[in-house]
Amino acid sequence: MSQVYNFNAGPAILPQPVLEHARQELLDYQGRGMSIMEMSHRSKEYEAINSGAEATFKRLLGLGDDYRVLFLQGGASTQFAMVPLNFLPPGGAADFIVTGAWGEKAQEEAAKLGRAPIAASTKDSNYSRNPRTDEITLSDDAAYVHLTSNETIQGVQFAQFPDVGDRPLIADMSSDILSRPFDAHKFVLIYAGAQKNLGPSGVTVVLIRQSWLDTAAKTPPTMLRYSTHAKNNSLYNTPPVFGVYMLNLVLDWIEENGGLEGMAVRNEQKAALIYSAIDHSNGFYRGHAATPDRSRMNVTFRLPSEALEKQFVAESTAAHMVGLGGHRSVGGIRASIYNAMTLEGCQALASFMGEFARKNG
Ligand SMILES: *Cc1c(COP(=O)(O)O)cnc(C)c1O
Repeated sequence: MSQVYNFNAGPAILPQPVLEHARQELLDYQGRGMSIMEMSHRSKEYEAINSGAEATFKRLLGLGDDYRVLFLQGGASTQFAMVPLNFLPPGGAADFIVTGAWGEKAQEEAAKLGRAPIAASTKDSNYSRNPRTDEITLSDDAAYVHLTSNETIQGVQFAQFPDVGDRPLIADMSSDILSRPFDAHKFVLIYAGAQKNLGPSGVTVVLIRQSWLDTAAKTPPTMLRYSTHAKNNSLYNTPPVFGVYMLNLVLDWIEENGGLEGMAVRNEQKAALIYSAIDHSNGFYRGHAATPDRSRMNVTFRLPSEALEKQFVAESTAAHMVGLGGHRSVGGIRASIYNAMTLEGCQALASFMGEFARKNG
């Protein structure tokens, strides 16, 4: 079997033990003579996966009965509309702290449905940093404040979340959810497409505070109401069963590997290896993000020329490191090093970077 180090941004690397576990029971799930994909979502087997995934997710974040975890479809992109449909009342305003391309999209979508003032934007610095506290202007009566915890394309991440007072806080955590400990109680709603840090594409995880859910609008179409999915334990319609099954295995894997603390320790070590290769290249590599705002999940950098970037991607691919080309909108190089990426993979990339700089610098 030919193995590669997979630095794709999403769909992305999955933990090897999870893939092996899934292969083991692919053809015969728990002696039922068929795969989980072929079973009813009302079966007791699937019910156990569905409720197990919700319980493990909440346990990892230290949350109790005041939160629900929903497994939806439509990706994080559908959440860009679903959040304001449910929680942006007529005449109200939702404040957006925009630190990259995904936050921009979330704001634009909300602005189609109501007032969505930009409370802060770092666009003028090419989304290379987080805003300072004095750059954030929040509405007094904000229905909620929205931020993107990790901007996957630009590679900037909030180390600490900005203080929004008692305004309800909502985050798109698609690319760094469960990568480190954080106080989930600060948020009324968190959403994440699974395909970066949680599992395969096709599932979108929504964490929602029950008391906040109770305030949702009653008017949106059935499938676009959080309450529909909460009332039915994410089984209102046919769920993406294989995706939730894989997600459940990934959650178990996180728990077995030290939980969020364990993930954070490893993620810090991994990111440090690659940032150190950037910082010790005598300027050959130029990191995109300001040092304090560097993402531990998506490391973005440029080389002296686009020709060298092309060569970097070609040679790294030949060396079995795939997915290193930057997003088509910004170019450069992006190494996505989600939870499932190994320290060994990051060591391999760091040493390749050192050699490449020596040869071409
Ligand atoms: C990938 C990504 C999205 C889009 O997710 P889809 O599931 O493709 O809709 C949104 N926000 C962030 C932060 C992302 O990384």
